[in-house]
Amino acid sequence: MRTAGAIVGDTLRMLRSMAGEGVSLKELDRAAEAYIRGKGGRPTFKGYNGFPASLCLSLNNEVVHGIPNQRRLKKGDILSIDCGVTLDGWVGDAAITVAVEPISDEVRTLVRVTTHSLMAGIAAAKVGARLGDIGAAIEGTVRPHRYGIVREFCGHGVGRLLHEDPQVPNFGSAGSGPRIQSGWCLALEPMVNLGGDAVHTLADGWTVVTNDGRPSAHCEHSIAITDSGVEILTLCSDGTHP
Ligand code: MG
Ligand code: MG
Repeated sequence: MRTAGAIVGDTLRMLRSMAGEGVSLKELDRAAEAYIRGKGGRPTFKGYNGFPASLCLSLNNEVVHGIPNQRRLKKGDILSIDCGVTLDGWVGDAAITVAVEPISDEVRTLVRVTTHSLMAGIAAAKVGARLGDIGAAIEGTVRPHRYGIVREFCGHGVGRLLHEDPQVPNFGSAGSGPRIQSGWCLALEPMVNLGGDAVHTLADGWTVVTNDGRPSAHCEHSIAITDSGVEILTLCSDGTHP
């Protein structure tokens, strides 16, 4: 999982540097697939429940599960890039939200707080803590900013499969839920809206958008929790965040 995860991190790093004005979402998807296959991996999302691409690319008011298409990035956009890699039967899953500068201060803060909430969730993930502690840490980081937190989609176990038990909500009460066991691997992925919580899925059956049309940010890491602490599995191969 560490090796699969490093390919995810390196893919996201490459995509962050590519994601400038004028680049199409399809070009990002093609580059990701070529990179992943070049490393001996397989893009986990491609064909997953019929998903047609290697990346989920969700622009501005899109929250998650956007399908790469011919749209081109323009100044002021934010884009959630979600990437899964399967290597030797093990899965890594992570996401970043990138900005096409210049973006508004309001949206910049949204992206920063979303990233902070992910790190707060990771810090709460300890053997013997409760699953609700993770959601409470994420929610506690987000709520003071009066942002919306998506409730219909959440983090998840990850390992042999992209989505395993348990579900990991991005909200909750500290001290509630099952105890976290040594050896659990989880993908934590806060989805945070500049407006309200509510989202819906478009007629394409995939793309999730905010009901109020306001921007949404999303970031994700796969982590392993053991008695020696928490390890982020989807860092780049040089150990830095993508
Ligand atoms: Mg993901
Ligand atoms: Mg995920």
